[in-house]
Amino acid sequence: MSIDFGTDIYEEPIVAKTFLSEDAQEGSLRPKTLSEYIGQEKAKGNLAVFIAAAKKRGESLDHVLLHGPPGLGKTTLAGIIAQEMGVNIRITSGPAIEKAGDLAALLTNLSEGDILFVDEIHRLNRSVEEILYPAMEDYAIDIIVGKGPSANSIRLDLPHFTLIGATTRAGQLSAPLRDRFGVTLRLELYTPQELSKIVTRSASILNVDIDPTGALEIARRSRGTPRIANRMLRRVRDFADVRADGVITKKVADEALRALEIDDLGLDPIDHRMMHAIIENYGGGPVGIETLAATIGEEAVTLLDVYEPYLMQLGFLQRTPRGRCVTRKAYEHLGLSVPKSMDEVPEQLSL
Ligand code: ADP
Repeated sequence: MSIDFGTDIYEEPIVAKTFLSEDAQEGSLRPKTLSEYIGQEKAKGNLAVFIAAAKKRGESLDHVLLHGPPGLGKTTLAGIIAQEMGVNIRITSGPAIEKAGDLAALLTNLSEGDILFVDEIHRLNRSVEEILYPAMEDYAIDIIVGKGPSANSIRLDLPHFTLIGATTRAGQLSAPLRDRFGVTLRLELYTPQELSKIVTRSASILNVDIDPTGALEIARRSRGTPRIANRMLRRVRDFADVRADGVITKKVADEALRALEIDDLGLDPIDHRMMHAIIENYGGGPVGIETLAATIGEEAVTLLDVYEPYLMQLGFLQRTPRGRCVTRKAYEHLGLSVPKSMDEVPEQLSL
């Protein structure tokens, strides 16, 4: 059976950094307990110990920093920590806290043991960040009351709360803030086997008929990222419903993803443009990320957070002090002839 897929049905890219309308349903797909949370065994194992120890001592959990590319499960994990600790969680983000007063209001409204989750914590502004230091360390904040010579500083005690910070770039966090986290967990890209379990679990929640080969095909092409796997599942389901008999098989997944311009490895047109630009405009590299972003008309942060990690994991891209370079593997994947210069020098020295 061949399936006739129309084109341009969807305008939003699957590999978007931004929140898509379809992600609004994400909540129902979020695992609620550590045992439901698939993969990330190292982070999960450590967390289980820290949670058990804090509960045994009857204390709040130490502040936790979660870092890794978008869509890997940082927000989900924060929710699970709250659930496992039996406390409330307040969710906010670095850019949403504009003034020191906003953070003070959030902190003073917490109850003992509560979790404050700050997404994109590397984007907190300095004056807000400075309030966080005593809050994290001494569970207190200093508030200035009044103006001019009559201004007074009052110290307010806070409940023992846990700050969970999430960031796509731990390197951008200031050292004083980074040092105040007792626990730092790095989330890794998922393996196709783990993603296949995630897709199968999501399919059963969404009542989607999928066979194991279909789940693995989606998993293989979702760039190690559960959010992308779930997005792909929804879109492939639409194709399966409309153009096939409702069941997602490998063939249906393959044809749907090809129609959505996702290649065999999960690379989309932006990945291709990135690699072609490095090869065609910059002789394979090195080229700086800002220059590259301007060349292909994308934002540098999107390339950094969303595109680079996966291309690097595939071994298609290398980050060097002088910029980005493509590797022999990238030429081969794109079906281009590998330049002679790459034959002369072993790959790791070809920077
Ligand atoms: P982040 O905060 O890192 O951007 P999220 O926590 O919002 O990522 O995760 C995105 C989606 O991926 C969630 O809706 C959830 O359904 C799914 N997800 C993430 N991690 C897992 C996991 N380990 N197991 C199952 N589903 C997951």
